[in-house]
Amino acid sequence: MRLIQRIQHLLAQTQAVGSRSITLMAPSLSGCAVCGKAVNAKAAASRPGTSSYAGEILHTLRHSLCAACCDAIPWLERIKCPICGRGISCEDCTRRPDRHFVVNRSAVSYDSVMRGWLALYKYRGYERLAPVLAEMLVPPLLRLTKDISESEPIQQQGKSRLRRLIYGFFNKQQLSDYWDAITYVPISAQRAEDRGFNQAKEMAAHLSERFGVPLFHLLVRELHSEKMSFKSRAERLRDVRNLFRVDEAELRELEEGPLAKQLSPYERRRALRILLVDDIYTTGSTVEACSSALLRSANYDLRIYVLTWSRS
Ligand SMILES: [Zn+2]
Ligand SMILES: [Zn+2]
Repeated sequence: MRLIQRIQHLLAQTQAVGSRSITLMAPSLSGCAVCGKAVNAKAAASRPGTSSYAGEILHTLRHSLCAACCDAIPWLERIKCPICGRGISCEDCTRRPDRHFVVNRSAVSYDSVMRGWLALYKYRGYERLAPVLAEMLVPPLLRLTKDISESEPIQQQGKSRLRRLIYGFFNKQQLSDYWDAITYVPISAQRAEDRGFNQAKEMAAHLSERFGVPLFHLLVRELHSEKMSFKSRAERLRDVRNLFRVDEAELRELEEGPLAKQLSPYERRRALRILLVDDIYTTGSTVEACSSALLRSANYDLRIYVLTWSRS
């Protein structure tokens, strides 16, 4: 994508996401985005939260969700598997020692309530859910960034102050210091035409706008895959491996484009840190296929961190 096109594209995206963010923040006129019941954000804000993990953003969600729906969110707060972010210990990660992403973190576990919410959004056109679901990715993103900041503090003046990071992470600048790009798992052209949108892309665009981390369209999905659920695990893994290719022009722009040129010498020496967004993490084979495709095409050292809305 040429620079002018990219700027136009970014502007259009910012406006689109911006208007949705405003909808999210404004007092709700049409009730809960899930069940339609009245939303009393003021009363909700004074209630103690049921989740410490999501405490910082629940006040935002409470403008769009009723108290019962807010309380029904199964936040994934206690992580047992440090690789995939699951709440229980897991075999998938030990079976795959050669993975190409660093870790996955998910916002919620994929229970029947969350399955219902995602279906309302994906298949029944509940557009007001788009910013709500995307906003739910903020707590795991903050926690992941904080973990990175503690293990690899940025060596620049004024940026390594941990206190500021912990207490002021909503400051765009501080979070964006740690991320070079946000990208997403693409859907096939056919599915995009059927559905009209890609939920992973919408989530990535929301985070990009909220934290000022540039959005790159790094991946392309090659084929419309058959229904995965009818296949065995081995068949699924084989199919998914060849499902994605990299948009070389986008990747070169990330590696060598205007953004990369702005990096300080210190920042250029370190690996480029990429956030890969998707809606569901099941076996991890989809994000693994995306990550390995990216690493195969990269000229620079890339570190891919996966952020998913739900962990099944
Ligand atoms: Zn509700
Ligand atoms: Zn795991």
